[in-house]
Amino acid sequence: MIIARSVKELRKVLDHVSESIGFVPTMGALHSGHRSLIDSARRDNGYVVVSIYVNPTQFLAGEDLSQYPRREEADFKICELCGVDLLFYPETMYENDEVSIKAPDVRGFILEGASRPGHFDGMLTVVAKLLNAIRPTRAYFGKKDAQQLALITQMVNNLVMNVEIVAMETMREKDGLALSSRNVYLNEVQRSEALKLSSSLKSATKMVMQGNFKSSEICHAMLCILEPLDVEYVAVVNRAFESIPEVILGNTIVLVAARVGTTRLIDNVWM
Ligand code: AMP
Repeated sequence: MIIARSVKELRKVLDHVSESIGFVPTMGALHSGHRSLIDSARRDNGYVVVSIYVNPTQFLAGEDLSQYPRREEADFKICELCGVDLLFYPETMYENDEVSIKAPDVRGFILEGASRPGHFDGMLTVVAKLLNAIRPTRAYFGKKDAQQLALITQMVNNLVMNVEIVAMETMREKDGLALSSRNVYLNEVQRSEALKLSSSLKSATKMVMQGNFKSSEICHAMLCILEPLDVEYVAVVNRAFESIPEVILGNTIVLVAARVGTTRLIDNVWM
């Protein structure tokens, strides 16, 4: 596995790659969710690039940038074991006073964008930089970050970027907790409280399977399960992230964001 620490080093290698390139951008502290993206990239492409970069511009003041888990040695091992050809591990992706991408006014500032204003500007900017640096055939993103995935897909369309975006299912612990690098912040009690997020989504799925499609009733039932937690939002939206009064099968995402202690967790289910 080659490790490139700058765009220049990266291009020196990739300029000689003629196979299809699968790219998995990450912030490190790799878990089985990341691995499923890397495995798919490995299956679909001749050459696999993973990036590990904790992007400062997508963290708001007071968020966990300085505490975000960093596991360099373990991450390098995981990438090597997964058959990654090139690991992009830049120290920084920025100069001073840069041009940047702005998230769309509506879709970029609801839900996650309302709770974390500016987050998506930073996320889109770094993803655009990474896609331009690596020029992959396909880039892999998790449905766990559903709004992120929708905005990246929109950016690629709006800016006519030549890459296929591949959406991957959410990987979970056996008990339902969605894997996240931030789960390491949870103590034992919080870990069991965090299960309320996936439980609330399971109950939403059950209601729909039993024929109750009403968004307001689904949200109410979810809030009852989530109750002791500090809930930021529960929402039923279509794939364009517009609120819908009733679930439309094949075109719905039910989302939740809540704090367990000081740890902010998100989860969702696609119906
Ligand atoms: P992160 O390192 O948190 O920025 O995530 C890197 C990529 O992994 C993003 O596309 C995430 O959506 C994806 N991802 C994170 N958690 C999971 C999970 N539990 N299952 C599948 N993909 C995930």
